Amino acid sequence: MRTTVGIIGAGPAGLLLARLLRNAGIDSVVLESRDRGYVEQRQRAGILEQGTADVLRAAGAGERLDREGLRHDGIELRYDRKRHRVDFPALTGGRSVTVYAQTEVCKDLIALQLKEGGPLLFEAEALAVEGADTDHPHVRFRHDGREGVLDCAYVVGCDGFWGVSRTAIPAELTRGFERVYPFGWLGVLADVPPSHDELVYARHDRGFALLSMRSPVVSRLYLQVPEGTDAEAWSDEEIWAELERRFETDDDWTLERGPITQKSVTPMRSYVHEPMRHGRLFLAGDAAHIVPPTGAKGLNLAVGDVVTFARALVHERETGSAELLDAYSQTCLRRVWQAERFSYDMTTLLHRVPGASPFEERLQLARLERIASSRAAETDLAEGYTGFPFG
Ligand SMILES: Cc1cc2nc3c(=O)[nH]c(=O)nc-3n(C[C@H](O)[C@H](O)[C@H](O)COP(=O)(O)OP(=O)(O)OC[C@H]3O[C@@H](n4cnc5c(N)ncnc54)[C@H](O)[C@@H]3O)c2cc1C
Repeated sequence: MRTTVGIIGAGPAGLLLARLLRNAGIDSVVLESRDRGYVEQRQRAGILEQGTADVLRAAGAGERLDREGLRHDGIELRYDRKRHRVDFPALTGGRSVTVYAQTEVCKDLIALQLKEGGPLLFEAEALAVEGADTDHPHVRFRHDGREGVLDCAYVVGCDGFWGVSRTAIPAELTRGFERVYPFGWLGVLADVPPSHDELVYARHDRGFALLSMRSPVVSRLYLQVPEGTDAEAWSDEEIWAELERRFETDDDWTLERGPITQKSVTPMRSYVHEPMRHGRLFLAGDAAHIVPPTGAKGLNLAVGDVVTFARALVHERETGSAELLDAYSQTCLRRVWQAERFSYDMTTLLHRVPGASPFEERLQLARLERIASSRAAETDLAEGYTGFPFG
């Protein structure tokens, strides 16, 4: 097989990249190790920055997003039984975010790719990227029980944190920056309308909690739990009781309960791999960086990377200049590190860190008070949450 851009992974990064390239008249092949059902059902992110929603619309993937996505103009911070709303448009000159699940983004992009795009092979596992630093990079893969080779002009590794692309860059040329947090998130999906019309981020002495939603009738809720927690060790009753405690307020707000349909634990990690390019191999999305989900940045960063790559390749086609491709890693990393900083700040602002001293806990509350009382501090949060510009 031969193509211009070999894409490894059909998560949001790989699928959107295939769509952007197709719209620019550049051919690609997508290799995805899992089956279609798995990719479409995997519960993960749910908040689209305004820039991400705009890119999906411009790519022709915004029809259902505009029909079913929920525009959110703010979030609520909850601490010490108090509530504080952060108003995004008022603080950022009109920006907002959209609640639209990653599963739905993937479903939309898969349907478009299968209808109008180039090959998208499910159950096609990339085994290795070879020749990245030559003019003839290729991907060895296994599909239908047979091994094949995909010859490409460029390879883009969109294969997530556990993929093979990153390992094709010689270790002596790379540097990894990592922080693993001593806690995770127990996430549940529940068939109950969200108890609040915007996301609620709660800092509580017992730990962090987040109220989010997937639709007007499905809630997504999270609890901070110790690292290594088994989701099945928590009964539904224990989960609801703990959520109620952590969301408690001085007014008459109540948390509606409903049947829990799914539960899982997500570990928390910050990670950046530098550089994001080696020769003709480019890394995008979780293959190159991970953020703790507190800032809702993972999916949005993946979108920023592939937009940057697609623009750079189109620029090369139109002008013959590889300057934007050469600058890919630096361009992406500037945005990545801002998102890393924001996600780290949100995580340390809201989580109970095991072993934190009473002094550090008071500082955490002082930071929250500062956001609630200073327009400058609140604007910084609103700008970070609604997203840093692409490129
Ligand atoms: C468990 C979990 C929960 C999350 N929850 C949230 C959240 O609540 N909020 C939030 O903002 N973000 C969340 N994230 C982060 C967000 O979902 C990711 O940042 C986003 O999925 C990144 O997209 P991606 O396309 O780069 O990678 P992925 O979505 O990981 O896609 C990579 C794809 O590559 C495929 N692949 C891997 N190896 C190979 C191979 N060798 N050959 C072929 N294909 C391969 C995988 O099957 C996968 O489909 C979560 C992430 C995880 C892992």
